[in-house]
Amino acid sequence: MSALAATPQDPAPRVPTVERADAVVIGGGPAGSVTAALLARQGMRTVLLERERFPRHKVCGCCLGPRGVAALARAQLGDAIEGSHALESVSLAHSTRWMSLPLFGTRVMGRDVMDSRLASSAAREGCDVRMGMRAAVVDAGGGRGPAQVSVSEAGHSQSRTILARIVVCADGIGGTSLSPLCGTASWAVEPHSRFGVAATLPAGTLGVPAGQLWMMSHADGYVGAVRLPSGDVDVAAALDPAAARRTGGPGALIAAVVAGCGRLLADAAAHRWKGTPALTRRRAWVARDRVICVGDAAGYVEPFTGEGMSWAIEGAVVAARIAPAVMASGDATPWSLALADAIGAHQRRCRRVAAMLRYPRATMCALRAASRVPGMRRRLGAIATGAS
Ligand SMILES: Cc1cc2nc3c(=O)[nH]c(=O)nc-3n(C[C@H](O)[C@H](O)[C@H](O)COP(=O)(O)OP(=O)(O)OC[C@H]3O[C@@H](n4cnc5c(N)ncnc54)[C@H](O)[C@@H]3O)c2cc1C
Repeated sequence: MSALAATPQDPAPRVPTVERADAVVIGGGPAGSVTAALLARQGMRTVLLERERFPRHKVCGCCLGPRGVAALARAQLGDAIEGSHALESVSLAHSTRWMSLPLFGTRVMGRDVMDSRLASSAAREGCDVRMGMRAAVVDAGGGRGPAQVSVSEAGHSQSRTILARIVVCADGIGGTSLSPLCGTASWAVEPHSRFGVAATLPAGTLGVPAGQLWMMSHADGYVGAVRLPSGDVDVAAALDPAAARRTGGPGALIAAVVAGCGRLLADAAAHRWKGTPALTRRRAWVARDRVICVGDAAGYVEPFTGEGMSWAIEGAVVAARIAPAVMASGDATPWSLALADAIGAHQRRCRRVAAMLRYPRATMCALRAASRVPGMRRRLGAIATGAS
């Protein structure tokens, strides 16, 4: 059923040039796979298109906050994070000053494992999961006709068309699947936005203990490090692009931030760092005719509070609920309000935290002062993960 196990050697699947589906979901991250699983569970003919072949590395801090964990459990998809580790504390550092806050309910798991499992869950629910397929929306389905998605196999120019009653665009921060509809106007990137970068490093490269998250901040960006269940260390950062160029590249700047906090990252330049486009950005629109945007594809805020996956999952649950109405009416506009209702307040809090962190020294002083108030350390930990 699932195309997860497909390899480039497999014969091309026999699919007609024009097909019909109830729902096409573009992107197999948490937003796409959870939406696809829930749509298929409702009995809709659902096709999930993912341009990469899983397992794949994803730029991410790999910490799923308590709201994301709870949303997965409510959606009966909690088995995707079986074997994840509990995160017990976050240690915040600026310069060589560190302070620790307790965390409750956050889980750690590599995105290679988690995303593969979620896509498999979608396949188990009856979704037609196709890996190595790049999709683009060529018609949003105005005038009550179906939406049209053009699909081509990665590395092949030949394309097929899928006609759908709803298209869920969950193609993430670098997503271009809406470009045929709106070109470069698709995204408005905030000036001075940082970019993301991450690598999975062998155990021993950085001494972060299991169960702890290190968040090391600097005026030029911040670096998070966590031990994965595999024993490897996930290092993920949001960096100022000019500072990264000045310092000799992302690896060198990450090593400098870590060293500035009194820790050592061995052989930083030798690791394979994977980057993202500029992070903080808004979509020109998140709903049009039969198309809705979910997860990072709907807009993105700097990831310091580590909630992007939770928002993606929560958004997916609401998207699956609203989908039948969009399919019946061909009018996706209610989605904008539903999405803002589900995650808007959390994104605004994350924006405020990210803005404060542009002044890490002042932020650390304020945190230290606040943490002396009885009960405040626990409260700050909850705010940091969106659990409050
Ligand atoms: C440095 C950094 C650290 C982070 N740390 C955390 C953290 O600790 N916790 C947390 O919750 N969040 C974190 N995030 C955010 C988190 O990674 C994202 O919010 C989350 O991955 C969003 O999920 P998604 O499904 O919307 O998109 P994605 O996970 O990006 O999935 C999108 C998928 O779409 C596919 N795709 C793209 N274009 C096409 C196309 N045309 N056709 C078909 N498929 C396509 C991509 O290959 C990809 O698999 C971090 C982000 C960064 C940059």
